[in-house]
Amino acid sequence: MKKILVIYTGGTIGMVKDSVTGSLMPFDLEQISEVVPPLKKLDCNISTFKFEHIIDSSNMKPEFWSQLVGVIEKNYNDYDGFVVLHGTDTMSYTASALSFMIENLSKPIILTGSQLPLDAIRTDGRENIISAIEIAANNEVELPEVCVFFDNKLFRANRTTKINAEYFEAFYSGNYPSLAKVGINITYKSHLVLAMPQGRMKAYKNLCDDVVIVKIHPALKLQYLEAMLDTEGLQAVILETYGSGNAPTEKWFIDLIKHTINKGIIVYNVTQCKAGSVVMGHYQTSQQLMDIGVLSGYDITTEAALAKLMFLLGNYEDKALIRELLTTNLRGEITK
Ligand code: ASP
Repeated sequence: MKKILVIYTGGTIGMVKDSVTGSLMPFDLEQISEVVPPLKKLDCNISTFKFEHIIDSSNMKPEFWSQLVGVIEKNYNDYDGFVVLHGTDTMSYTASALSFMIENLSKPIILTGSQLPLDAIRTDGRENIISAIEIAANNEVELPEVCVFFDNKLFRANRTTKINAEYFEAFYSGNYPSLAKVGINITYKSHLVLAMPQGRMKAYKNLCDDVVIVKIHPALKLQYLEAMLDTEGLQAVILETYGSGNAPTEKWFIDLIKHTINKGIIVYNVTQCKAGSVVMGHYQTSQQLMDIGVLSGYDITTEAALAKLMFLLGNYEDKALIRELLTTNLRGEITK
């Protein structure tokens, strides 16, 4: 029987209503099979781990990611798969971070959560937990990936974005198809899953948080942008551009970005669009960015771009190598 470790970090999924006060409070994770009885019927052994301080994922921090990686590393050889229960708000950030922080992953790590608390009548949490565990314990396909399972779909973690605060279809992967769909049966698309790695699993716990995200918009002003980019210690800027990587061609803007790059700061171009890719040089408005040394993020999500930069800057010294790796597909996060 496969052994699955369910790790609870917080978020709506682990909340139940206190029968006396009516307020939402975390349920006792060890009682998970009592709260979700069908879990008892699954053909696997489920163990649980709960963080001492569980959080609403809006309070997620890089230190928490390092702790989470530590828990997985410590238990790696004892389990066949991991399911991480997490708030939906920052799930794509955490999922992306895990994908980079764990190299040569050979087992599934599946993040899931819910839009409604687990004891709500129409909760989506029950289905999400059951299917996530069933997939993590499956004997049909190997899943050496960090994934997000939500609303009947299994996605590659670093391709996801939260797109809906109301409906159950909360996550979207605009540039990569789902890896599995759950209906009457679970249909796996094994040809889309990452290949089994050759080397041993390696966990990285260092992250660099000297990164900012700048969203381009029509009212962008020199003084605000300058204040951000001139901040002491800044190492990288994620430039969320229009469409296929376009930004204003005004001199002040180009000069400021050029000045930033000349100081050794990395500028990484990702699109604001939820699908499609940065194609530097496609329009004159991105050609200039390319000419001054802005790097293309291709079809990477903003969440994965942030995680990738934090991981690379936290673990590599050589800036030329970091620049090269940023434009290389490391964990299935970009299509090249
Ligand atoms: N604010 C909650 C969280 O992200 C929302 C959720 O879990 O869906 O932790």
